Amino acid sequence: MQSTKPLTSTSFFPPWRQAGLRFYSYRFRLKELFGTRVQKVSIDAGFTCPNVDGTVAKGGCTFCDNRSFSPSRRLPRADIRGQIEQSLARMRNRYTDCEKFIAYFQPATNTYAPVERLRPLYEQALAHPQVVGLAVGTRPDCVPDDVIGLLNEFGERTYVSVEYGMQTMHDRSLEWMNRGCGHDSMIDAMQRSQLRKFEISAHAILDLPGESHADMLATARELARLEVDGVKLHNLYCVKNTKLADQVATGEVKLMEQADYVKTVVDFIELLPPTMVIERLSGDAPPDYFIGPKWCLNKGAVKREIDAEMERRDTWQGKFWER
Ligand code: SF4
Repeated sequence: MQSTKPLTSTSFFPPWRQAGLRFYSYRFRLKELFGTRVQKVSIDAGFTCPNVDGTVAKGGCTFCDNRSFSPSRRLPRADIRGQIEQSLARMRNRYTDCEKFIAYFQPATNTYAPVERLRPLYEQALAHPQVVGLAVGTRPDCVPDDVIGLLNEFGERTYVSVEYGMQTMHDRSLEWMNRGCGHDSMIDAMQRSQLRKFEISAHAILDLPGESHADMLATARELARLEVDGVKLHNLYCVKNTKLADQVATGEVKLMEQADYVKTVVDFIELLPPTMVIERLSGDAPPDYFIGPKWCLNKGAVKREIDAEMERRDTWQGKFWER
């Protein structure tokens, strides 16, 4: 039987702790992999989503402004290389020390097409001389075996990260958000993704209506059990023109305060294995679309508060992880 004792600084001291960090940050991970700073560039390849087009549900997730994913509203956009060039031009002043980029297929469901359509899209991104890898955001119910095979094939050539939108382990919350699939889809996708040549990360949302503190921490333990390589966390936030916006306006849904989020995130991180990369700890949207909570817009302040809470507790990622 494996030990369930808390890890201590003497029982495990991974490189990120040796570097003075309290959690395994994505920036640290990419530096380990590539030896230099690497940033993601977002690509919109024109996909839709099966709970927008009516395949598994209609209307999309309650918090997602998915009108632009509607098949009838897809607008012509620059080709993949053109999008990368445009993003690099915008980023050049901000990231003067960054020469390498990961092409991030981000909006909608980026495996929701036959492999014959997916392959050339991923190839076009990789053909850019400054692109050193791919990140592909998708739903766990949209990765049939041939798509997993394709991602594995790319993973044999380059860095590939597949991001599954898990959000929570609780089916009642997935139903609340009109997800169109249950947690069994995530378990199935993970079983078929293990031991492949790509990294797997999972998105999770804290403060879903009806979830207690214990429910949220159960999702942390489930992520550890599933052995995802990385996690992206954020609180439930609200953008305009969504069902959630109506629920917030009527008071049906109340959004978390920053202090509660910070404490919950730190509790969550303490339960994750020290080998799991924390890719994101907050989320936001363009101010024009954003409703709240307003504190999300200051990501730097949220990160500082999380760091301060970890310092105050003298804690770190994995402190209470149980194998
Ligand atoms: S699965 Fe993703 S893209 Fe589709 S509606 Fe939900 S949040 Fe939006």
